[in-house]
Amino acid sequence: MTKKLPIYREPSPCSAGDGAAPSAERDEHGDEASRRGFLQLAASAAVLLAGAPGCKTDSPEFEELFQKHYKELTAEDKKKIFARLETRTRALTGVKVNISDPQPLEGVHFAYALNLSHCNGNRRCVEACARENNLPNDPQMRYIRVIELDNGSQHLEKGTAYYDPERVPQPGKFYLPVQCHQCDNAPCVRACPTKATWKEPDGIVVVDYDWCIGCRYCQAACPYHARRFNWVEPSIEPDRVNPNQGYLSNRIRPVGVVEKCTFCLHRTRNGRYPACYEACPTGARKFGNLSDPESEVRKIVENERVWILKEELGTEPRFFYFYG
Ligand code: SF4
Ligand code: SF4
Repeated sequence: MTKKLPIYREPSPCSAGDGAAPSAERDEHGDEASRRGFLQLAASAAVLLAGAPGCKTDSPEFEELFQKHYKELTAEDKKKIFARLETRTRALTGVKVNISDPQPLEGVHFAYALNLSHCNGNRRCVEACARENNLPNDPQMRYIRVIELDNGSQHLEKGTAYYDPERVPQPGKFYLPVQCHQCDNAPCVRACPTKATWKEPDGIVVVDYDWCIGCRYCQAACPYHARRFNWVEPSIEPDRVNPNQGYLSNRIRPVGVVEKCTFCLHRTRNGRYPACYEACPTGARKFGNLSDPESEVRKIVENERVWILKEELGTEPRFFYFYG
């Protein structure tokens, strides 16, 4: 049996409190006031911790605790942070990983289209996604849920994602894969009190795992149940570690933060397809640049009768369904 290794934060003399993520309250002054309050709290803690025995302000723990928001990091900051994360991941898993930070490409706006006539519920996409994104071997920690529904139904809550994939397709059922829809009008982004989650220029909604305080407002706000919270120290077998890691995507996440599908940005921003697309044996998944009139996904959106989930909510997903 493969040994499971605990991934991530070791207790440190510089850790604040018992390690539980602080919660943030919204107030009548809105997001900025809440964030300012959190930062003031952090600054006060910094002063206290700087005086704590054995806690140096230039130590890795201290730097990590008071790391700047992703958008404020310089190239030099990133170099140091990535090196620290690579060293830590190697120490904990024995695997040498490479953390990169691919940027959105000019003129590219990613979108997904899913042909429900072809999806037979085999869930290969779910497993490929889990491996690609360094998800633990826990069926609840999956970015993709393939929901088995009665023919004609669209009540996601009445379906199940925990059917037997060896016995598909079942008569009278159809299969609806759901993952983050990278909404243009994303309620998760609006809900976040610390601006730890935002939409990138290529349409991908990302999370700064070092800025997330684990309040889970975003998770509650997402109408597609697309976000997952790390309740426990994640564990992942060394032979399941994907060494090709993106800072804003599949690097190993700490306990107490929220994560989700990023359309495999560490692959797609480098001209590759998402892992779920490549794993699908039926060709149900279509992915590409919606701004390119020649792309397959653009042609589908223009020529097929595509529909989106929960349209009435105005989330404007970048994820389309069709029967073709
Ligand atoms: S699907 Fe959910 S997590 Fe993804 S962008 Fe939309 S609201 Fe946010
Ligand atoms: S990303 Fe989600 S859990 Fe993290 S701080 Fe923002 S709302 Fe809270």
